[in-house]
Amino acid sequence: MSDAATLTRMIMAGQGKEPADLVIRNVQLLDVITGAVTQTDIAIVGDRIVGTHASYEGKAVIDGAGRFAVPGFIDTHLHIESSLVTPFEFDRCVLPHGVTTVICDPHEIANVLGAEGISYFLDCAEQTVMDVRVNLSSCVPATGFETSGAALEIGDLEPFRSHPKVIGLAEMMNFPGVLNADPGIIAKLTAFQGGHIDGHAPLLAGTALNGYLAAAIRTDHEATSAAEAREKLSKGMAILIREGSVSKDLKALAEVLDENTSSFVALCTDDRNPLDIAEEGHLDSSIRRLIAMGRPLHHVYRAASHSAARIFGLHDRGLVAPGWRADIALLDSLEDCRVSDVVIGGRLVGPDLFAARKPVEPVGLASMKARPVSSRRLHHPAQAGPQQHAGHRRPARPDPDLPRCRDAGGDRRRIAARSSRRRAESGGHRAARQERQYRPQLRARLRPQARRHRLVRGP
Ligand SMILES: [Zn+2]
Repeated sequence: MSDAATLTRMIMAGQGKEPADLVIRNVQLLDVITGAVTQTDIAIVGDRIVGTHASYEGKAVIDGAGRFAVPGFIDTHLHIESSLVTPFEFDRCVLPHGVTTVICDPHEIANVLGAEGISYFLDCAEQTVMDVRVNLSSCVPATGFETSGAALEIGDLEPFRSHPKVIGLAEMMNFPGVLNADPGIIAKLTAFQGGHIDGHAPLLAGTALNGYLAAAIRTDHEATSAAEAREKLSKGMAILIREGSVSKDLKALAEVLDENTSSFVALCTDDRNPLDIAEEGHLDSSIRRLIAMGRPLHHVYRAASHSAARIFGLHDRGLVAPGWRADIALLDSLEDCRVSDVVIGGRLVGPDLFAARKPVEPVGLASMKARPVSSRRLHHPAQAGPQQHAGHRRPARPDPDLPRCRDAGGDRRRIAARSSRRRAESGGHRAARQERQYRPQLRARLRPQARRHRLVRGP
């Protein structure tokens, strides 16, 4: 939001009547709408671009000569927890790859800590330099068979809805629950009608897909073939091409990203581990690969920015043009998507921005229930014969000499009792039956990719 004085300054600076706060000088600007590349200055006041396609004076100047400017990238679906670092570390490691906005489902931390985990995540999101947005976890636990640390019903999600970082409801992975109108699922879907509801519908097709979409679910990151993606596109579902560390769909889906579809296609990582981020990159790596596979260049950049923003209702970003949020990736090469600098909200990303973040008190430090392990407990007498070297062979039955893992606090019993109570309250036994009914059908269809995709919830 800009006050009257700032807005006036933006209008004046846009006309060149007063200096901008920051000018990126002589950069090659890629227009993700027309595909044109134009050498220009980019003028910025506060967090907003106020001028392009002209020369500007600024209080600070970045030399853009020999470089390209594209809109900052938007990862449309991910779980930061799966990167095995806190939101703060993720911010510091991934923002320099040009990823200026991420749309997260704090599903993993919510599975362990429930509302406390979501609160922590939102507190971090208010501190990160990167704009971390949140879709509220719709399926905690992911299935009725889990004994997770928490269960979130609509009443648990409601208090977070008005948080400025919250967009809507996260991946609705309990699609059997949707199709069979499970009361708990219907309560969540009803509450979020008119807002954003993220999809998760592996292999749903035909009238089952129609029924799922009838709930006003708008996106899917679970398509694993071009044919599946095309059916979903033809029914108005935006396709988020996922390339993570576990699920890799980019190769199969690349062909659906073209001049006709690029407004309805975006990119996501879902789960990406630190090694892959360090070695290959983040969304920059997906962009690089899509271009190398012959996808039309400015449509790839459009999917990574403007389309992503529109699909998720972020109307202030996704273009490098006057009036749009100043999230800009500066590249040494367009084809190679080599990011050399990032401007976010009008500020050049550097160590000073990360150092200025206020720390957030960690949570969940006592969520591991295992007792301390001493070396004595790991002692195992050597056996004679060939098994001596078969380090990875598992004994046929538990070794009576090895101590069993004890549930000292009776947590497993308590959690099991609680989930069965909750299932009974919400008609969950029916949901479990529905899930069982879908299971063989799905398993048969998923077999070719079985190792890459989990049955009900993709990673
Ligand atoms: Zn996910």
